[in-house]
Amino acid sequence: MKLFDAHCHLQDDALFPDFEKIMQRAVAAGVERAVCCGTAPRDWEKVFQCSEKSDGVLPMVGIHPWFVAKDWKRSFRALENLLQKHPEAGIGETGLDFQARFINRAEQEACFAAHLDLACELNRPVTVHCVRAWGRLSEILHEHPAPRIQLHAFGGAAELIPELGGLNCWFSFGGSVTNPRAKRARGSVAAVPPERLLIETDAPDFPPADCSSPNEPANLIYILRTVAELRSISIEEASDVLFRNSINYFALNC
Ligand SMILES: [Zn+2]
Repeated sequence: MKLFDAHCHLQDDALFPDFEKIMQRAVAAGVERAVCCGTAPRDWEKVFQCSEKSDGVLPMVGIHPWFVAKDWKRSFRALENLLQKHPEAGIGETGLDFQARFINRAEQEACFAAHLDLACELNRPVTVHCVRAWGRLSEILHEHPAPRIQLHAFGGAAELIPELGGLNCWFSFGGSVTNPRAKRARGSVAAVPPERLLIETDAPDFPPADCSSPNEPANLIYILRTVAELRSISIEEASDVLFRNSINYFALNC
């Protein structure tokens, strides 16, 4: 069984002082690939260090909506240069978070749109965080189409899935779906078209129910089991479908 962690953050040495052990446990749990997402200029180099240390780690770099600073355009130019130098890298984490009132909405939107345009220009996958901003998200995706978009930790209503699917979105679910009280996310897991479903740990955050913190890629197995159960398919079938979807989303040749 091959697993693919479609969104996590392994670059924080304070939380993951023993990166090799984390990756050994991931491999022992069947996790062949883990997408390590940067969040701000300060961690981009660390993301590439993780992917240099382990073939299983795929790098992504971007500006998370919480870290859209006043001078984000300058950082964005550095991001463009970095992505030109690293054709293997995806884009993100970017997105919109209207719960994070400390970041100006207009700046968040402009920065997010710039990431989408770059994803389109470079034909790269882009990983998107969206909290309480579904209306604007869909409007911006209409105006700035990108070829392959992952809605990470998807928390939108199941009714949004057909429209967002038509905008090249994949829907990704993490540890929260293992909680029986997460009715909305669990309903969405069952509603996503099979070829657009992804799973992720979002490590070190959001451990699955009964797992300790910090979360890590080896815990992906718990999310896989829940997704298989919610879609009434076997764990083997779920892992086959999810691995294939991740390869397609990342446009990998393997
Ligand atoms: Zn994340």
